[in-house]
Amino acid sequence: MVNNSLKEITQELLKAKTMLLYPHVNPDGDALGSCIALERALRQLGKEAYVLVEGKLPNNLQFLDDGYITEDQNILENPDISIAVDCSQDSRIKGRLDKFKEAKNSICIDHHENDIPLCQYNYIDSSEAACSQIMYKLLLEMQNQSDLEFDKEMCNALYTGILTDTGCFKNSNSSFDSFNISAELVKLGANTYEVAQEVYEKEPIGKIELEAKILETLKSVKDGKILIAYASQKMLEETNTEMDMADSVVTTLRSIEGTEVSVLLKEYGPEEIKVSMRSKSYVDLVPFAKAHGGGGHTRASGYTIEKSLKDAILEIEREIVELV
Ligand code: 5GP
Ligand code: MN
Repeated sequence: MVNNSLKEITQELLKAKTMLLYPHVNPDGDALGSCIALERALRQLGKEAYVLVEGKLPNNLQFLDDGYITEDQNILENPDISIAVDCSQDSRIKGRLDKFKEAKNSICIDHHENDIPLCQYNYIDSSEAACSQIMYKLLLEMQNQSDLEFDKEMCNALYTGILTDTGCFKNSNSSFDSFNISAELVKLGANTYEVAQEVYEKEPIGKIELEAKILETLKSVKDGKILIAYASQKMLEETNTEMDMADSVVTTLRSIEGTEVSVLLKEYGPEEIKVSMRSKSYVDLVPFAKAHGGGGHTRASGYTIEKSLKDAILEIEREIVELV
């Protein structure tokens, strides 16, 4: 797929007056961080912009909410542009797709591999560790074409995206740009200690209790080269937690010596099981995820299984062996 230039995309943004930004469903630090930064930039330039989400924000990302994040699809009628952020597949904005299509113009900013363009204007670069890195470059271009100034909240938001999508700079995708842009953001006002405190140091006790329950389900395949665990709705009730609090377990499992692939199944509903996968050094997860209707990155991918938790576990155990 051929990208449009950030210059062209900026021109479209500057022409428009009203826009809705769409992070992917179950938004993470990168999706929300890049949305908030762009929404604030657009507002600074006198535009009317909102971040339209599907579902509740994770607890540890609520500090990003500047009052313009909403679930209300009627907040703007017929906006000039719909902007997909950190996602380029319509399945990732499924519950908002009709609204997305309401706009005359559409723009996609993403770092997930995808061959089919979602929007009229697309900028997708899967070599970028975080969509927030692309968003930083877009804001620089907007600065070239307007009198935009970075504020502290924009910088904190973009830094949150880079920090979380690189796994605190531990993942293989961490690049010169990840460090360089982070340093630029600090220069422009980001407070890295504040962000780290918000994202990682305010865990509710229930999260640890949930993690303990998940670890009890651990199954080892092929001598521990693959580890599989699950989180059920029952566990959430018992620990008074939300499903996003299960997320970090999949990277904890990968950290075990000798483990190449870790898998976490998350029961969002009776027939809605989200699969989270991580690999350590040689398995490319993208083809496997895509074959199941999902996607992602070489070392972090996911998809949804529309079966009961029990059947989804059986399916994974049967199929995953082909990966290592
Ligand atoms: P996570 O395991 O953190 O939910 O997702 C890991 C990576 O895989 C993320 O980059 C995410 O965007 C991608 N991913 C997870 N689930 C899906 C899915 O259902 N569809 C697609 N296309 N990508 C997914
Ligand atoms: Mn991302």
